[in-house]
Amino acid sequence: MRRSFLLILSFVLLCGSYVDAAVELAARGENPVLLQDVYIFNGVPYVAVDDALDAVSLRGHWNSITHVYRIKTARGWAEITPGSAYLKFGERHYPLGTKPRFIDGRLRVAEDFLVDQLPRLIDRSVYYRNLDPLPTRKVEGEGALDRLFAFLLRKKKTVAGPDLTGVAIDPGHGGLDNGVIAATGLREKDVNLQLARRLQKLFKMRLGVPVYLSRDDDYELTAEQRVAPAARDNVDVWLLLHAQASYGPTPQGVVLLIRRDQPVSASPSVEKSPSLQLAEQMSQALREAGFDVAGIQPTDRLPLGDGDLPTVQIESGYFSNPQDLARLENPDDQELFVQALFQGVLNFVRLEEENR
Ligand SMILES: [Zn+2]
Repeated sequence: MRRSFLLILSFVLLCGSYVDAAVELAARGENPVLLQDVYIFNGVPYVAVDDALDAVSLRGHWNSITHVYRIKTARGWAEITPGSAYLKFGERHYPLGTKPRFIDGRLRVAEDFLVDQLPRLIDRSVYYRNLDPLPTRKVEGEGALDRLFAFLLRKKKTVAGPDLTGVAIDPGHGGLDNGVIAATGLREKDVNLQLARRLQKLFKMRLGVPVYLSRDDDYELTAEQRVAPAARDNVDVWLLLHAQASYGPTPQGVVLLIRRDQPVSASPSVEKSPSLQLAEQMSQALREAGFDVAGIQPTDRLPLGDGDLPTVQIESGYFSNPQDLARLENPDDQELFVQALFQGVLNFVRLEEENR
């Protein structure tokens, strides 16, 4: 049963239409425009700047003499230049995470331009969705869900390739499912997504590896969509982002959850699971960055699958604790937090390399 399901799953994943990358883009509140002329370069989607502007009703043109692309906005001209790390808008320069580049004859911008700079140019927020991580077919039938969560997440080691080939991130909850809600109105689903986006950016920009989010906006996911990124062949770390709440204000700190079927004992005679090793590295990096880590806990109530794919569910803090809440709401603290998680993954990968 499980074997045949695995075969079906691999077939679905191999044949999914994500071979052709596509994104959706629109000014918030407008109908999303599907952009299919998308190139993946170092794991980052690039769309033609003409297409991107068109999707939000802006116009621009390339000046082949000055080698500058000029964009007309309601508040004046903006400029980007291939290979330059700045957007010039009026008299100001805004740093770009990824430089525009010519690919296949068209000047293209990476997704961070769409998310961070387009809203500036149209003075309005932007809807952006990378359609790549979502599976295109569903596993139907009674019990399919149980089988989906029971499937084996195998650590896929390539013999010659780099040690980290891809990362799957699941920002918990979304849509009607808010997760926990703080007294201040802060919603867990939003914090999870903010942290996931920051982590995604770090991995893409520092390592250039593909990062697959189960969702990149505020919508509900099917169980299949939630787990699909982790089942991809090139993914070798799965991070699930959550936060929790307690009845009283006292419980505090980060908790890292891993599968129960794996040894949590630090006894040298017991070989530590990859997930435990990953959690330990994260815990250490978090503590070194000044975060309070309440512990690493095995759990069997989570749909983490079986197998040895290094998987950690990060409970980023307690919404019921004032210090944790202040930290989770603060953008600077969010950035420090994901940097520590990123460092933990790096240390884990290096450790694995040494032990080989
Ligand atoms: Zn949660």
